Amino acid sequence: MTGVNQNRVSFEFFPPKTAAGLEKLKETRSALGALNPEYFSVTYGAGGSTRDNTKDIVLDGINAGFDTAPHLSFGGDEKSSILTLLDEYRASGVSKIVALRGDLPSGFGDGSRLVHANELVSFIREHSGDHFDIAVAAYPEIHPEANSYETDVQFLKKKFDAGANSAITQYFFNPDAYSFFIDRCQKAGIDQPIYPGIMPISNFDNLKRFSQSCGAEIPRWLSYRVESLKDSPDDLKAFCTDFVTSLCEKLLAQGAPGLHFYTMNQVEPTQSICHNLGIK
Ligand code: FAD
Repeated sequence: MTGVNQNRVSFEFFPPKTAAGLEKLKETRSALGALNPEYFSVTYGAGGSTRDNTKDIVLDGINAGFDTAPHLSFGGDEKSSILTLLDEYRASGVSKIVALRGDLPSGFGDGSRLVHANELVSFIREHSGDHFDIAVAAYPEIHPEANSYETDVQFLKKKFDAGANSAITQYFFNPDAYSFFIDRCQKAGIDQPIYPGIMPISNFDNLKRFSQSCGAEIPRWLSYRVESLKDSPDDLKAFCTDFVTSLCEKLLAQGAPGLHFYTMNQVEPTQSICHNLGIK
């Protein structure tokens, strides 16, 4: 596969909980950094639970010379703490933020007090002007709490109208979900880039569990195929890498402006998929 703009891949990490996890993350960052991504991003634990860890990893990435973007939500924080965080990020050389409503940690209620992402985007623009490039989340298979597909698209438009520059999608495994979504977005007047979020498949049981809560559909045939290969780890790994490579190729052929990988802090299979795509 040729034609991928190497600058348009980005890699997402989550903040590890242990010192060993942090060391491993730095190795992963170094290996994936060799692929010249546009940026790395670091997630923000539900309800702001990883605020300091996220910040530390973002600033460590910036100091190591990697463009690194924090994910951010209001969570349970006062506006003043978010303002302080924005100022610290700006002073430390952060130029991009992934702005989210976020979810609450389980056991913390129904989330009805969470602040929608469009309000966070407006808040960042009011406070920091155009300093930050802002990415927001989008859902080709519809956000699990959305009233309808069309309202979900309208709320995405609201995030762009508030000043977001681009969107990154929840992961999905059916390329038609992306083309249908882009078509609906364009019809709604959205012309900003929407980057597909790519989930490389490594631990299928975890993926199935997580997909149920975030509303990502796993095709039945894929489950059966993975099940049939479960006693041949090498074949399973090769199949999953080829499957996700092929998904990326189809998305790029449809005109996707680039790819955002949910790396799960692992070099593999993201690195192999990128190599297959000609990103070296
Ligand atoms: P919103 O855009 O606010 O949408 C949430 C729901 O409310 C949708 O159903 C939408 O249709 C509706 N809605 C939107 N705006 C309004 C409005 N103004 N009025 C009424 N209804 C509205 N979670 C984390 O906790 N930490 C992370 O770091 C993180 N990173 C993510 C990165 C990406 C790329 C993606 C796709 C998701 C990420 N998430 C993360 C998960 C995300 O926080 C959840 O999906 C969350 O439930 C919704 O966040 P949002 O920003 O899309 O919310």
